[in-house]
Amino acid sequence: MTARKATTQKSAKTTKKTVKKAAKKATKKAAKKAQAKAPKKAAKKAAAKKTAAKKASKAAAAKAASQRRVFFFGGGKADGHAAMKETLGGKGANLAEMTSLGIPVPPGFTISTDVCADFNRRGQKLPPDVKADVLTALANVEQLMDLRFGDAERPLLVSIRSGARASMPGMMDTVLNLGLNNDTVHGLAKLADERFAFDSYRRFIQMYGDVVLGVPHDRFEHRLDAAKESAGVELDVDLTGADLRRVVKDYLEIVEEATRAPFPQDPQEQLWGAIGAVFGSWENQRAIAYRRLNDIPDEWGTAVNVQSMVFGNMGDNCATGVAFTRNPSTGERNFYGEYLKNAQGEDVVAGIRTPQPINESSRAEDTKDLPTLEAEMPKAYKELVKIYKRLEKHYRDMQDIEFTIQDGTLWMLQTRAGKRTSAAAVRIAVDMAREKLITREEAIQRVDANSLDQLLHPTVDPENAPPVVARGLPASPGAAVGEVVFSAEEAEARAKGGARVILVRTETSPEDIMGMHASEGILTAKGGMTSHAAVVARGMGKCCVAGCGSLAINYDQGSMRIGDLVVNAGDVISLNGSTGEVMLGAAPTVTPELGGAFSELMKWTDKVRTLRVRTNADTPHDAEVARGFGAEGIGLCRTEHMFFEPGRILAVRQMILAVDPRNRDRALDKLLPMQRGDFEGIFRAMDGLPVTVRLLDPPLHEFLPQTEEDIQEVADSLNRSLGDIRHTLEGLHEFNPMLGHRGCRLGITFPDIYAMQVRAITEAAVNVAKEGIRVKPEIMIPLVAHENELERLRKLSEGVIADVRRENPGTRVKPSIGTMIEVPRAALTADRIAHHADFFSFGTNDLTQMAYALSRDDAGNFLPDYVEEGLLEADPFVSIDVDGIGQLVRFGVERGRQTRPDLKLGVCGEHGGDPASVRFFAEVGLDYVSCSPYRVPLARLAAAQAAVAASEKEESA
Ligand code: PEP
Ligand code: MG
Repeated sequence: MTARKATTQKSAKTTKKTVKKAAKKATKKAAKKAQAKAPKKAAKKAAAKKTAAKKASKAAAAKAASQRRVFFFGGGKADGHAAMKETLGGKGANLAEMTSLGIPVPPGFTISTDVCADFNRRGQKLPPDVKADVLTALANVEQLMDLRFGDAERPLLVSIRSGARASMPGMMDTVLNLGLNNDTVHGLAKLADERFAFDSYRRFIQMYGDVVLGVPHDRFEHRLDAAKESAGVELDVDLTGADLRRVVKDYLEIVEEATRAPFPQDPQEQLWGAIGAVFGSWENQRAIAYRRLNDIPDEWGTAVNVQSMVFGNMGDNCATGVAFTRNPSTGERNFYGEYLKNAQGEDVVAGIRTPQPINESSRAEDTKDLPTLEAEMPKAYKELVKIYKRLEKHYRDMQDIEFTIQDGTLWMLQTRAGKRTSAAAVRIAVDMAREKLITREEAIQRVDANSLDQLLHPTVDPENAPPVVARGLPASPGAAVGEVVFSAEEAEARAKGGARVILVRTETSPEDIMGMHASEGILTAKGGMTSHAAVVARGMGKCCVAGCGSLAINYDQGSMRIGDLVVNAGDVISLNGSTGEVMLGAAPTVTPELGGAFSELMKWTDKVRTLRVRTNADTPHDAEVARGFGAEGIGLCRTEHMFFEPGRILAVRQMILAVDPRNRDRALDKLLPMQRGDFEGIFRAMDGLPVTVRLLDPPLHEFLPQTEEDIQEVADSLNRSLGDIRHTLEGLHEFNPMLGHRGCRLGITFPDIYAMQVRAITEAAVNVAKEGIRVKPEIMIPLVAHENELERLRKLSEGVIADVRRENPGTRVKPSIGTMIEVPRAALTADRIAHHADFFSFGTNDLTQMAYALSRDDAGNFLPDYVEEGLLEADPFVSIDVDGIGQLVRFGVERGRQTRPDLKLGVCGEHGGDPASVRFFAEVGLDYVSCSPYRVPLARLAAAQAAVAASEKEESA
């Protein structure tokens, strides 16, 4: 070890020396030359050379740093820093940063993410130069800790942890207490006591056996359970040193039996084995699944952090804990966390013992009688408070921290931006801007627009909820109603079949990730607010009730007992993730009241964004909801939905199937007042705001009678025979209705239908204007492919509008007339079409369908596979395909404005409510997006984020 240490240290020093030497040489040479020549010129030249040499020295140092693959941290100094997440992973970068800040961090080093790919490319082998650098860094740790790796008297133990650029909680492997063997365990016992040393050794064998040697975890667990049983104790901490010594002996045998080789006793062999296993764990199934779900690229790789162990399990003045600098569930400015006395890190998340609250504000129902860290270890707590404040100020964000207290001394093991619910994200961003920790623009950028969906979603209506049968921790808010399933696999399978399920587990583990994703909500019997289920559900924005101790789950029988009550798989339950309540039966849900922080943030978004946000709404109720969410008008009112209302469909069928124009007129006369009434309601709800009403669009067959009874009804009402109607129906049959007789094509062949609708819109506007409503109607013609279609239908509409205006002298109502751009040909000929349009609204649903040749109705059979297998980054019906369909939009915008610079441009396809698409629409210069009511806030935020990003780009250019 010492010899190797000397050579490797030498090699690192040599690099530094060479760099320095080269720089000195260059400077000296330059100075000598300068002396020989004319003093002024020479001095100038020498100075230039000196600068060049300095530059060369800096470049060489930078090159050396860029080639570095092992980064040391400890004793207040670090090779890396927080901005190096790509190279060091999140954990490594922040350990380096904390060290440089002077925060107590156990010394260690990070092996860079580049090595991960290299390691896997070389057939799971570490490059030799990395091995040498690891040993150098390890020697530095030994020096700082005054301990020796593998020393029987004063052994240094290390932890080996993964750490990718993005946090992937629990997805990869960790090995703790590495360096223990049959000799060093005695040295460790001398540093503390026998119980502690053998407990650490048994933990190490178990972890190393599982992670590196592939020995099933259960075998160790069974042995430990047996030891507890024979000692007559319930908890691990109650086992004596002698008990644990026996457990260790058995563990060593378990390993030898399973691997047919003795447990590795050489600490260096252990070290290479663990580093390899952690790098290798980047490729394990659950890490791969997590990357798919979270869009983390495979090529990023993980870093490996090797760090001196500190012990939270050395006695009663030791502890380990996790904390958030603000409440991750509500966002309140309260330091919030849990800890376990005499325990090691994994015990807190494993849910073995109920963690204690760190302070009064972290207390929950189940911890109301437990002492706090503040009361039990006031000195360490005070220091923790000082550090958390410092970290939050430094990182300017809420931090999720891990700490260990060894013999009353506090050590920080991790800090990272804390995961939070969307409600907390909003509150924290707004509070921090108010506290002047961040700017309002930064606050806007801090909230994930997609996550607002969670915030706006309904919660359980407490007034009418079914009986509460159990209570757990309110781990992740929202409401979930579904059928009970007891395994992740079942959850996935049932959800694929269309069922809504709630995954019920004693506790969840990373293997359950896909099943959790497929479930409406998650219920666990064990675990706290920082357990796996709680953390993962919060991240996914799913409702979760954790640690519901009254559940007794019987996986074999597929049932659970809550007191006397038996709940079987398939029974419906409801969860309230905000209160922790579990209800038997389906709970009704209510729309949440949004807090002050939310409306404040929304106000800020409105100040910075230029893109307007409208809504797609066809009823006064939806219009009102959307207005409440800040909609600035209706961008799409689909009139066909109104035709399906009871009492109307017969008139619609009469209108389509009438051969005698008088019958058609009669049907239209019936529909006119109904439509007029609909529009009046919507105009009233949108007083002062624009409302775009789209004329009839869907294929005719959607309205046609299908059943014998319905056909007979139409036949009777039109005084025609059944056979006659059948004949007409056959004539209307289409092989490809989405490309058939729909949209403006209906208006061309049945101009009376469109004329009736234009009249209904204009008359409704005239009527409400008389009531004092400020009405701004816009008539939209769908599915235009050729400018001639729009020219004809515009003329028709203008004629009807002129008639209504004549009939209502003095009215100022004059609807504008525009078109949807949803047929690729329309986008390509937008310059011509613009001659006849006051506005365009891009119908990106149909545009995607037609230009991508993807049927909106059938693509669900294969499109998800495309996304899952990485052929497509996202479903193009959800997020705009920027490279393809997006270019049609861009082209349509440019060409349309070429003809009419004042052309109003919007989008009303589903993409109007997708944050990534909204950013694109802002970039191409649309005036507004239109989306479903609940997505309005999300679109407002995304539009503001686009504006902030654009101004930042401008500033940096
Ligand atoms: C569209 O095609 O994008 C659109 C908004 O119209 P619809 O979805 O009604 O076809
Ligand atoms: Mg359409």
